[in-house]
Amino acid sequence: MKRFTSHLLGFIAVGAILFGSGRAAPRSFQYPDYTRVVLDLPRSIQFKVLEGSSSLNIAIKGVSLPAESGFFDSRELSGFRVSSSGGDSKWTLLIRKGEKPHRVFLLKDPDGKARLVVDYGTTGGPTPTALNLPKAKTALRTNMRVVLDPGHGGTDSGMNGYVMEKELTLDVAKRVGKLLEDSGVEAVYTRSTDTQLTLDYRARQANAGTVNAFVSIHVNSAASSSAQGIETFVFRRPLDKSSRSLAVKENGGGTQGEAVTKKAETLASNLIGNLLASSNLELSRSMAQRVQGKLIANTAAVNRGVKSDYFYVIRFAHTPAILIETGFGNHPVEGRKLATDAYRDILAEAIADGILEFLKVK
Ligand SMILES: [Zn+2]
Repeated sequence: MKRFTSHLLGFIAVGAILFGSGRAAPRSFQYPDYTRVVLDLPRSIQFKVLEGSSSLNIAIKGVSLPAESGFFDSRELSGFRVSSSGGDSKWTLLIRKGEKPHRVFLLKDPDGKARLVVDYGTTGGPTPTALNLPKAKTALRTNMRVVLDPGHGGTDSGMNGYVMEKELTLDVAKRVGKLLEDSGVEAVYTRSTDTQLTLDYRARQANAGTVNAFVSIHVNSAASSSAQGIETFVFRRPLDKSSRSLAVKENGGGTQGEAVTKKAETLASNLIGNLLASSNLELSRSMAQRVQGKLIANTAAVNRGVKSDYFYVIRFAHTPAILIETGFGNHPVEGRKLATDAYRDILAEAIADGILEFLKVK
C-alpha cells in the first residue's frame, strides 16, 4: 500500500512539473567546465539579462512563450522556468551553489528562427556564431523509468514467418528506448541481447526501483495467413475468449503455457475488488489506448483494439503495464513490412509517443 502511494504521488508530482513541456523546453548540454542551455525561439528577439542571487533571469521582448518548468541534469544549473505576460517572456535559470561566469547570446538561423544560448561556467573560447551541439545529450531528465520487455529470446524464438519474433522485438524495443532517452526518460531492458529469460524474471524488472511503465513487445501469428493488424493488451479477464490461445502461446506455449495462463487467471481473480489494482488497471488501459491509437494512426494497420487477457508478464498490481502485438509476422503484406527498418521506425515512434503522452512528458 505504502509503496504504491509513494509511487503514485511521485508520478503526479513529476507529471505536474513537466506537464506541457515539449518544444519550448530548453535543452541542456554538460561540458567539462560549463553548462550550455539552448532555448528555441520562433524568431529573432531582443533580450536583457537580470542577475539574481540564485537565478539568472532573461527578459525576452516581443515573444509570448508557453509556460514551462523543469530540471537540468547539470553541475551548474538545477532547473528553469519560462513564463510570459503582456506579450513578453521571462526565462529563469536556477543556479546551483556558487555563482560562476556566464554569457548569454542569440543565434539567428537562416529560416528566421533563433536560439537563445546561455553558457554557465568557464567557457574559455570566443562566443560562437553557430552551434554544433552534441546529438546524444537530452533535454530534460524526468526521473522517469520505463521497462521495455522484448518478447522471447535465446532458444525461444517466438513466432517465425517473414520475421523472427525474438529478433524484431529486441530491435523495436531498442528503437523505442532510444526515443524515450531522447525525451529524458530512462529506458531499461529486460534483455538487450539474444538470451532466454523466464517470465518471472522479466516481470520482476517491473518492481526493481521506481518503474513508471512496463511495456512488453511481441509479434502475432495465426493459423490463417489472412489475419492482420495490431492489438494491445492489459492484464485482466478477457471480454471474449478469442485471444486465449494467444495468451497461452505468449505464456510459454504448450502445457507449460496452459499452466501459466491458469496461474495468471487465478492472480487476476484475486485482484478483483482491490482498489489499488483497479486504479493501476485504469492507468494501464490509458497507456494501452494511447499506444494503440498512435500505432494505428501512424501505420494505418488494421485496428484490433485494446484488449485484456491473462498475459503473465504484465500481471502487476502496482505498475502500469501493457503487451503489444505489433502485427502478424506470417501475413504476406504485414509480415514483409515488419521485416523493414522503415516500418520498425514507425512502430517505435508510435510506441514511444504513446508512452510519453501517458507519462505526460509529451
Ligand atoms: Zn510473443
